[in-house]
Amino acid sequence: MRLRSGDAGSMYLASDPVATAVELEDVSKTYPGGGGTPALRGVSARLGAGTFSAVMGPSGSGKSTLLNCAAGLERPSAGRVRLAGEDIGALREPALTRARRRRAGFVFQSFNLVPALSVWQNVLLPQRLAGVGPDRRWADEVLARVGLSGRKHDRPDRLSGGQQQRVAVARALAGRPQVLFADEPTGALDLSSGHEVLALLREAVDELGQTVVMVTHDPVAAAWADQVLFLADGRVHSSLGDVSAERVAAVMTELSAR
Ligand code: ADP
Repeated sequence: MRLRSGDAGSMYLASDPVATAVELEDVSKTYPGGGGTPALRGVSARLGAGTFSAVMGPSGSGKSTLLNCAAGLERPSAGRVRLAGEDIGALREPALTRARRRRAGFVFQSFNLVPALSVWQNVLLPQRLAGVGPDRRWADEVLARVGLSGRKHDRPDRLSGGQQQRVAVARALAGRPQVLFADEPTGALDLSSGHEVLALLREAVDELGQTVVMVTHDPVAAAWADQVLFLADGRVHSSLGDVSAERVAAVMTELSAR
C-alpha cells in the first residue's frame, strides 16, 4: 500500500514517465457565498495521462470543488491548474469555456442529458457546442461501446437510469477529451447499472488510453481506479496507489473518525 498519511498537502500520483494530464499546484478555493471558509486549502496533485484516478473524502471535504477547478468549471481563488498542459487557472471567460470544451468531457450523477434531444443528438451536442464538426463515425463507435446503438433515435426519458448514464459516457467520449471528469457517476444508479458504468470507464482507460478523474464516496467504485486521492477539510490527506475496496474503506473509516 502506497499511503502517505498527513503528507503536507501534496500528492504525486503519476509515476514517471507517464505524462501529466491534470496538475494542481497549491490550489485554494473560497466561494463568494461560502462565509470565508475555504473549500480547498493549498491542494497540489498530479494525475497521469491514461490513468483512472478516484477522489474520495467525507462529505464537504472539497471533492467536487477539486474536480470543478481541475475541469475549468470553477476558477480557483489561488494556485495553478494545468489541464493537458494548458494553464487554465488563469483563463477568464470565454477562453475558459473554450478550453473546457476542447479538453474536458463530463459525466454527472444526474446524467444531464437534454430531454428534448435524441440519444444521438445528445452524443453529438458537446462537439456542436465546441464549434467542431462532429466525428459521426467515432460517435457511432462509442455508442456501440456502451451498447446503445439501437437506441440512437430514442429520447432520454425512454431509457433506464443506467442506460442514460451510458449515453452520458458515450457523449463524454465522443469529443475525445483529454480528461473525462466524472462526479459521482454511479450515485443515482442501482448496483448492476453502476457496475456497468464503472466497467465502461475502466475500459476507456485500458483500451482507448482515456484519462479519467472520478469523484466518489463509494469504496467499491473507487476500487476500479488506479489510484485514489483522499481529501479532508479541503486538504490532501493521503493517496493510495495499490487500490482495493478494503484499503479504501479503511482510509475512509479513519477519515470519518477524525
Ligand atoms: P464534497 O464534494 O466533498 O462534498 P464540495 O466540494 O461540494 O465537497 O464542498 C466543499 C465545501 O464548499 C462545502 O463546505 C460546501 O458547502 C462548500 N461549497 C461547495 N459549493 C459551493 C458554492 N457554490 N457556494 C458556496 N459554498 C460552496
